[in-house]
Amino acid sequence: MLQAALIVLALGFGATLALAVTATTWSQIRAPGGIATFIGSLTGLAGTYLALVMVLLVSRVPAVERVLGQDGLLRWHRKLAPWPLSLIVAHVVFLTVGYAEVAKTGVWHEFGVLVNSFPDVLLATIGFFIMVAIGIISIRAIRQRIPRERWWALHLFMYLALAISFAHVIALGPSFVGHPLTQMLWSALWAATAGLVLVYRIGLPIVRTMRHRLVVVEVREETPGVVSVVCRGQNLERLAISGGQFFEWRFLTRGMWWQAHPFSISALPRPPHLRLTVKVVGDFTAAVSRLRPGTKIAIEGPYGAFTSHHRDREKAALIAGGVGVTAVRSLLEDLPRGCDPVVVLRASRPEDLVFSDEVAELVRQRKGRVHELVGARSQVNMHGLIDLIPDLRQRDVYVAGPEQFVLEVCTTLRRLGVAADATHAEVYSL
Ligand SMILES: Cc1cc2nc3c(=O)[nH]c(=O)nc-3n(C[C@H](O)[C@H](O)[C@H](O)COP(=O)(O)OP(=O)(O)OC[C@H]3O[C@@H](n4cnc5c(N)ncnc54)[C@H](O)[C@@H]3O)c2cc1C
Repeated sequence: MLQAALIVLALGFGATLALAVTATTWSQIRAPGGIATFIGSLTGLAGTYLALVMVLLVSRVPAVERVLGQDGLLRWHRKLAPWPLSLIVAHVVFLTVGYAEVAKTGVWHEFGVLVNSFPDVLLATIGFFIMVAIGIISIRAIRQRIPRERWWALHLFMYLALAISFAHVIALGPSFVGHPLTQMLWSALWAATAGLVLVYRIGLPIVRTMRHRLVVVEVREETPGVVSVVCRGQNLERLAISGGQFFEWRFLTRGMWWQAHPFSISALPRPPHLRLTVKVVGDFTAAVSRLRPGTKIAIEGPYGAFTSHHRDREKAALIAGGVGVTAVRSLLEDLPRGCDPVVVLRASRPEDLVFSDEVAELVRQRKGRVHELVGARSQVNMHGLIDLIPDLRQRDVYVAGPEQFVLEVCTTLRRLGVAADATHAEVYSL
């Protein structure tokens, strides 16, 4: 499935490059400024196409979700991110140089002419500077200094930047001027992608929120610094969710309504109740621990490929680091009885083990085993997994928890010979 999607995307990329190539003749390339102008057109189209792919990646279209999962989606989004921006920067530079060569003026002067007298270029230039600004604040070292919610809100301006840049492509691009069919196809492609974002990121969450009308009924402490939020809702039996999945939760209080954070369900819904379990690590999670009964909740999701549907082998091993037990706990409920699961719960201190009783009961019903690995990181060697689970290589292995933990375990699994397609990870950070 992933390969098929990659082939379709590569064909789309090829077709986009072909648009630029076929719109230029040899004599145009040989003319003054021809090479720079051609490179400018080529990079502009390639960058815009990759920007479209990025939008598609975060549109939460179920097919994309299913194939990549949250983890893969973020990985691809991050991997791809520098390319559209670099190509669009190249587009601006080469086109300006090319036009300056034709007009026999300086580059800065020509830049001014382009912005002031070409249709829609002023708007596109504003869009370009927004993109560059977002690119700069997304550099890891800078991003880590900005509160995540602020960075997130700023990075949404990318949609605006893309929208206001669209018109100049159609009005000026050599591949589009005088080619109504190409104009129509390109516009349709962008309109369809924008439609998917509107439907899946805005429309569907509103419909689901209205349909299920979740409210907080109880916030209870599970272990020090970890609380469960029990919610009550309507029509939860119609909620198509699997164990291991998560929602983006928006608690509708005065200080919290404007930000949504991801939390896995820590148990399958028991209509009319649904539960999430949260470790207090920062402002938002601290506010969650203080939520009052009656607080209304908006949800986006369910999302994630950390589910039993992605299991190819008969048996599974589930490994949870700290609060990663939430996804593991609800996923365990989805595994059939008698399937002999092995669950590994990792925590620094015994009092940090969350849901050890609930997990033990679910594992007992499924005739499996639980191992609790408690102690400082230096004392617990994850290579010992193979001793705990001798048939590890014959199992699907699910790993959830903080980024460092998941990376470490996945590296260990690779070294122990567990196949990449048998490893399923849910990383609790961005
Ligand atoms: C798919 C997924 C499922 C998750 N499930 C759970 C769960 O069941 N229980 C639980 O306690 N935590 C879970 N998390 C992590 C949880 O989303 C963050 O701990 C929480 O959003 C932190 O918010 P904060 O403002 O309190 O902390 P901050 O002060 O913002 O940050 C503290 C730490 O959390 C990370 N973080 C902050 N915001 C987010 C965010 N929106 N998404 C991811 N990481 C973030 C930061 O990188 C930082 O390391 C999950 C994360 C993901 C991606």
